[in-house]
Amino acid sequence: MGYPAKDALEAVEKCGLQAEITELQDYIYASQMEKEHDDQFQEPSDKDGIFADICPRPPHDDLPSRGKRKLCDNKVSQMIGFGVPDHPCYVERVLPKSALVPPYQDHAAKDMKVAILVDMGYPAKDALEAVEKCGLQAEITELTDYIYAAQMEEEHDVQFQEPSDEDEIFADICPVPRYHDLPSPSRGKRKLCNNRVSQMIGFGVPDHPCYVERVLPKAARGKPYFYYENVALAPKGSWKKISSFLDEIEPEFVDSNYFCVAARKRGYVHNLPIRNRFPLSPKPPCTIQEAFTDSKEFWPSWDPRTQLNCLLTVVSGAKLTEDIWKRLESCPGDIPTKEVQDYVLAKCRKWNLIWVGRNKVAPLEPKEMEMILGYPKNHTRGGTTRLDRHKALGNSFQIDTVAYHLSVLKKEFPDGMNVLSLFSGIGGAEVALHRLGIPLNNVVSVESSEVNRNILRSWWQQTNQRGTLIEIVDIQHITIDMVGQWIKDFGGFDLVIGGSPCNNLAGGNRVSRNGLDGELSSLFHNYHQILHFVRIMMDR
Ligand code: SAH
Repeated sequence: MGYPAKDALEAVEKCGLQAEITELQDYIYASQMEKEHDDQFQEPSDKDGIFADICPRPPHDDLPSRGKRKLCDNKVSQMIGFGVPDHPCYVERVLPKSALVPPYQDHAAKDMKVAILVDMGYPAKDALEAVEKCGLQAEITELTDYIYAAQMEEEHDVQFQEPSDEDEIFADICPVPRYHDLPSPSRGKRKLCNNRVSQMIGFGVPDHPCYVERVLPKAARGKPYFYYENVALAPKGSWKKISSFLDEIEPEFVDSNYFCVAARKRGYVHNLPIRNRFPLSPKPPCTIQEAFTDSKEFWPSWDPRTQLNCLLTVVSGAKLTEDIWKRLESCPGDIPTKEVQDYVLAKCRKWNLIWVGRNKVAPLEPKEMEMILGYPKNHTRGGTTRLDRHKALGNSFQIDTVAYHLSVLKKEFPDGMNVLSLFSGIGGAEVALHRLGIPLNNVVSVESSEVNRNILRSWWQQTNQRGTLIEIVDIQHITIDMVGQWIKDFGGFDLVIGGSPCNNLAGGNRVSRNGLDGELSSLFHNYHQILHFVRIMMDR
């Protein structure tokens, strides 16, 4: 994950072998922060003392003589700031004159956020816009997501032109608009859906139809179909590059919050038809209130969330939920102070915590993630640890979203399909096709994690699949001869599907977010190379 070995060792020694990775990460960040803090912030000098603000005012006898001294030694590593309710801290705080009265305070907070973003390598202009649009309360991850979304939209507009009149004959308009809804007078160069990229509705989602004209280059039309997935908010230029290797096809950016209760912003490049798609039924719950009926009685009026953020590969530890509980319990009355509310809400949003008791929040259980993502109950249970399950589910396809795109294949393949499933994970593609009622004849599944392979194999057996499942451990070992042999044995592949690891693309990675050339994300190149092999061997 990119942490210095020395820091990693210290973290494991201090936190113990049982500690979760997130706890170890927190430890490393806290000690780095403390070191940085000590280097940067000096004690106030006597001459500054006149402006010093001592909070809270200590009883006279407790007060050490003013001047160069440390009043609270561990405030940084304990993260109690300049004091929190149960941990008073006698901090001498010397503000520069310009920051003493509002609105200077707001300016300082804004500058600070912008400075952090610039430090992370984002252009100052974009950083400023993000802070202005998202507000001073926004967390850094929210701001970086905003910047990526804005860049993505801009890139998209530059790269993907409207189809020309002569292309129109191949255009696939989805869904077919009623005549009166079609803009006039002539078809051709026009924008049928203005905000589909920023709204992340792709080429339309069930309740938000979108009249898209899609023109595929000749080489990409028809079988073998392909479907490539990755995180939507990837570093600048990543999707342009992905498209350039996949017939210059425009990515379809979709947020799964149109299909289920959680966000999952993903880009999909595929050559599937986009007409006559249909959603899986039953439709899963799309609001927190529908999805977590048990938590209704505990949900406080000041928590306005109706949907969850993106499900991650790790969940928060017990320390955080206990801390939240203590803070809420220590507030007199039913409604906590605004400060406590803001703190709790920020943590709940970041970690997708839900209310499971009075003043009690908890992270999602794997079975809840399975339900949200559209997998069968207990899909990832058995022979796996909680950590494995969270990781596998955090990386997986959201079934309802992917099935919506694949639904167009149902009519074309009533007798089943041959699938080359690359980076299969826990079998998102297989489960989606199965839930659509498309038989799986031959599936070659390529997946490096043994835990994930076991999950897919067990699902294959539990669901009494009649086809053949071939397992390959490493995509890098696949040769053109192997592809040729499979094609000979099965008579060709109907679909090549997969999403390569997003580790070097995803927003959560602050250590090695180096785009498509990152160690793991570069496996994308194996995806398009294998698709190329399949096309050659199928004479396409
Ligand atoms: N779409 C999948 C998840 C994809 S995540 C799902 O629905 O579950 C990317 C997957 O690629 C991970 O499961 C990871 O274990 C796998 N992977 C990483 N390196 C690989 C390699 N060299 N060969 C095959 N699979 C690999």
